[in-house]
Amino acid sequence: VNVVQLRELDKKHVFHPVTSLKQHQENGPTLIIKEGKGIHVTDVNGKQYIDGLSSLWNVNVGHGREELAEVAKEQMTQLAYSSSFQGMSHEPAIRLAEKIASLTPGDLNVSFFTSGGSESNDSAFKIARHYWKLKGKPERNKIVAMKRGYHGITIGATSATGIEQFQNMATAQAPGFVHATTRFNTNCELGDRTDPDFAGSFRGVIEKEGPETVAAVILEPVQGAGGLFIPQDGYLQALRKLCDEYGILMITDEVITGFGRTGKMFGVDNWDVVPDLMSVAKGITSGYSQLGAVIIRESLRDELAELSGDGMFFHGFTYSGHPVACSVALKNLEIIEREDLVANAKNMETVLKKGFAYLEEKHPIFTKSRALGLMAAFELYKDRNNEIPFNPSLAVAPRFVQECTKRGLIIRPVIFEGSNTIVMAPPLTITEEQVEQMIAIFDESLTEIATSIS
Ligand code: PLP
Repeated sequence: VNVVQLRELDKKHVFHPVTSLKQHQENGPTLIIKEGKGIHVTDVNGKQYIDGLSSLWNVNVGHGREELAEVAKEQMTQLAYSSSFQGMSHEPAIRLAEKIASLTPGDLNVSFFTSGGSESNDSAFKIARHYWKLKGKPERNKIVAMKRGYHGITIGATSATGIEQFQNMATAQAPGFVHATTRFNTNCELGDRTDPDFAGSFRGVIEKEGPETVAAVILEPVQGAGGLFIPQDGYLQALRKLCDEYGILMITDEVITGFGRTGKMFGVDNWDVVPDLMSVAKGITSGYSQLGAVIIRESLRDELAELSGDGMFFHGFTYSGHPVACSVALKNLEIIEREDLVANAKNMETVLKKGFAYLEEKHPIFTKSRALGLMAAFELYKDRNNEIPFNPSLAVAPRFVQECTKRGLIIRPVIFEGSNTIVMAPPLTITEEQVEQMIAIFDESLTEIATSIS
């Protein structure tokens, strides 16, 4: 490969998502990846890396799975595409929907297919609003989301996203989205109005807006892109109760947490909560094909059908239930079960935490480590005891990530709000030895950073 030429062509012709356009113009692409096998990817120069974020939190079964390629080829040859509109169907979508129903908690038994997470969330919002409209309450259309939540980049999903940098790109939000600003405070959701955080809680916001104006709440069971926050035990149950109290629909965004990432099949399974709608994408195909879904409670679908009479549900994507994507998803879920990857994610959480304890002991800048399954983070502080951050001009987190990249590990800094958080989510196939390799790279990179900034 002519790497110099590829870099120049990329600079000239590729408009990259979530990238500084100016830096790209000056420096070209950061890495050009050529191939992947297991937890590793290799760039065009032949350098190998651990894919510490499963690329974009999605390659759950790891790279280079031939059986996924084979199933895609078979499906493309037999029937590459067929529509799901106006009741048309095909076996891959039917089998996948049945499989999903067998994995989800409660009566989350019905799947509306999309091509990704943003489309799933927008579809969930429209289903929720449509439901209230059919019930004769069109004014019940607000969606309450959480600050620092990430739900995608379509206008609806961006409006639900609670990260300013993403919202600002749209210059104006879609109407009807409000944010709870208090983070995971169980007491508030349980109704403690004396808690100083109450006004910013879901309960505080919903009561202020008027529960009769709220269609649904949405949140990630574990916040991912916003900095990786794990709710305390009891929080999701309290939120479920709050929704039941006011008849509000509960949407969980399991785009990252779905299909084993947190050491359970779904994030909500950590707390035995059943939402009314669940958005999934990413891990449903491990990125081998583009697919998402909104999974809906059967009772809710039945009610919607009853209320609709002969009315159509006027919402759907050309690629809703794409046969190739559905076949790939089915095989991917078979791999996750056959190799017991959900249990492996839970076991590797223990190994990661052991490594974090060692790093915390050794490196004074390392703190606030956390993990649920294979979704993990830590933070870098100038003075961790007094929570004094590094001067943002030092760009400590990006520099740390560069040090890791040099040593063959791709991970990601949280890229907003001056955060020095490092997030990771390696493939669910990772072994104990490979987790230890990651820890060793963190160890060396921490030493390097501490030396270079002192
Ligand atoms: N929801 C969550 C929790 C995500 O992490 C993402 C993507 O990172 C999305 C939604 C958006 O999904 P997509 O990029 O497939 O549209």
